[in-house]
Amino acid sequence: MTAAIIDGKKIAAEIRGEIGREVADRTARGLRPPGLAVVLAGENPASQFYVRSKTAACAEAGFHSEQYDRPADVTEDELLALVAALNADPAIDGILVQLPLPRHIDEERILLAIDPEKDIDGFHPVNVGNLSIGRTGFVPCTPLGVREMLAREGVSTRGKFAVVVGRSNIVGKPMAQLLMARGEGGDATVCVCHSATPDLAAVTKQADILVAAIGRAEAVTGDMIKPGAVVIDVGINRVDDPSREKGYRVCGDVHFESASRVASRITPVPGGVGPMTIAMLLRNTLESSRRRVGA
Ligand code: NDP
Repeated sequence: MTAAIIDGKKIAAEIRGEIGREVADRTARGLRPPGLAVVLAGENPASQFYVRSKTAACAEAGFHSEQYDRPADVTEDELLALVAALNADPAIDGILVQLPLPRHIDEERILLAIDPEKDIDGFHPVNVGNLSIGRTGFVPCTPLGVREMLAREGVSTRGKFAVVVGRSNIVGKPMAQLLMARGEGGDATVCVCHSATPDLAAVTKQADILVAAIGRAEAVTGDMIKPGAVVIDVGINRVDDPSREKGYRVCGDVHFESASRVASRITPVPGGVGPMTIAMLLRNTLESSRRRVGA
């Protein structure tokens, strides 16, 4: 079997187009555009890259966006004051504090300070709780993007055995919550694996839908996959590769070559889940704006 590629870049572009059209329609009706504020502390090159991609996507979709760059030695109090000002700013619907923050900053304290109604990353405990009890709130963008991707690909999750490898707060846990939730995009029987799972392959081999969010390059190989499974690779890893101009290549948590011989569908890295994450960030911000300004 050669797996069909789930083209996240294409699906994300469709979604961004839909969002752009809705924003244009809203502004034509005299409503203000959705507003996103991005806070970047320090000079982590990966964070700078992600923030640039997010603000470019915002501009393309007609959002109002503001970026707050702060030096690596910014104090916790300064960040808390910035978050408080953004919470009170009527032009801002979503606040994104790019992680990781510099080591001396208590990340949790900053994330807890964000108004849950502007927490478009879905990291605040209020939104985490809402997701777990099935109430409307904001859901973290990466797992939300995976659910959207599966839906648009026509992959039914109902009654399927879904295995999520990884139990982080931003990917693994909310992914499992979404897959087990009642209704469309959920209703799966879910198993979550992590570093203490003794025989990972024995579990992953049973998955109809396998989501890998491990952070270990190409850890899931073809022999760990059930024939015909749908494989979603969340991982983004840099692996040294002197043959490349940049000296490295980017790969997922799944060994693409061997996995694509066994799976029925698979996401590539790059061009799979990554673009969906940004599309869902825009969608969450638009949704926040709809709630604040009106539909
Ligand atoms: P974390 O490091 O927070 O979590 C990794 C999880 O994998 C942990 O639960 C860990 O278990 C588990 N794990 C580690 N080693 C193994 C193993 N050998 N067997 C089974 N489970 C294992 O990572 P994130 O969830 O933040 O991210 C996961 C990956 O997704 C990364 O590659 C990251 O770069 C990528 N990512 C991609 C995004 C996108 O937009 N595409 C967005 C966010 C992340 P334990 O809890 O026991 O330590």
